[in-house]
Amino acid sequence: MRNSLYIISLGILMLSCGSQKNIKKKVAAKPVATKVNATPKIVEKPHVETDKKGDYFTVNLADASKNDNTISYGSIVDAKPAGYKVVKTYFPSLAQNFRQKYLIIHYTALNDEKSIRVLTEQSVSAHYLVNDLDDKEIYLLVDENKRAYHAGISAWRKDKYLNDNSIGIEIVNPGYTTDETGKKIFVPFPEYQFKKVAALAKDIATRYMIPPTNILGHSDIAPTRKQDPGPYFPWERLYKEYQLGMWYDEPVKQNFYNLAINSDFENQVNTSPFIFKVQTMLSDFGYDLPLTGAWDDATKKTLESFQYHFRPQVYDGVLDPETWAILQALHQKYP
Ligand SMILES: [Zn+2]
Repeated sequence: MRNSLYIISLGILMLSCGSQKNIKKKVAAKPVATKVNATPKIVEKPHVETDKKGDYFTVNLADASKNDNTISYGSIVDAKPAGYKVVKTYFPSLAQNFRQKYLIIHYTALNDEKSIRVLTEQSVSAHYLVNDLDDKEIYLLVDENKRAYHAGISAWRKDKYLNDNSIGIEIVNPGYTTDETGKKIFVPFPEYQFKKVAALAKDIATRYMIPPTNILGHSDIAPTRKQDPGPYFPWERLYKEYQLGMWYDEPVKQNFYNLAINSDFENQVNTSPFIFKVQTMLSDFGYDLPLTGAWDDATKKTLESFQYHFRPQVYDGVLDPETWAILQALHQKYP
């Protein structure tokens, strides 16, 4: 049946949004189209490579660089209309892409049992939960095609409310406590837990072709509200060992660092034009913050979030030459 000829009524073609003139031209151009009776035409079914079950397409038909593609093995839901058959093994449109544009990583700040209870019984959720056990299980709590409530009020570059277009991974981790100086003390992730998260992230990012700039922590997309997954989440290892997410090139950073320490950094750093420049660069890079020209609370928290991700050794929300150099290197690499 798949490779045989079948009849498609001209009436259906007329429903397309192209002009009638164009449709007539297109139908006439089909070499195999022959008259059956007054109106129906015979059109050859294109051959589209699918998996064995026919659930998803295994080749890209469109421009992969635009994240437009027909590999839909994260999206195999279709209608089952009574008395009719929905056919999906041919005629996929070129004009499509995935709704899943971001991968957001969190920690739960709870233990295993409480994490499961909160994420399944209350008003928050995530697609995946990575437990803190050295086993082979990762829990799916929400289907990837559905919206989970993990991001809250959030923004990155031109996107807002990232629940709509992201996959959320929650990691069981106790979060932080505050010491007597007010410093936040976080808890490292065991190696086996990091490996689970990395394997899961690799699978998701590959299937949905999520770009490096869109693999982020909750603190990146909500810097004034959130700290997770915190400075112990090894973004550098995720980049170097799994080719996921963003990281700077060391020589480029070193150049920017040398420029900073050989300039009048200490005197400039607290001037309004300099602060405005830093805020603009953070904003260009992706963070959502007001450009005030002052080291205000939002800017300090944004710098702290930036440090959790890209400069985890010191996360005090203060712009030192190292943080400034890393920001410039990343801004240049991921425009
Ligand atoms: Zn979170």
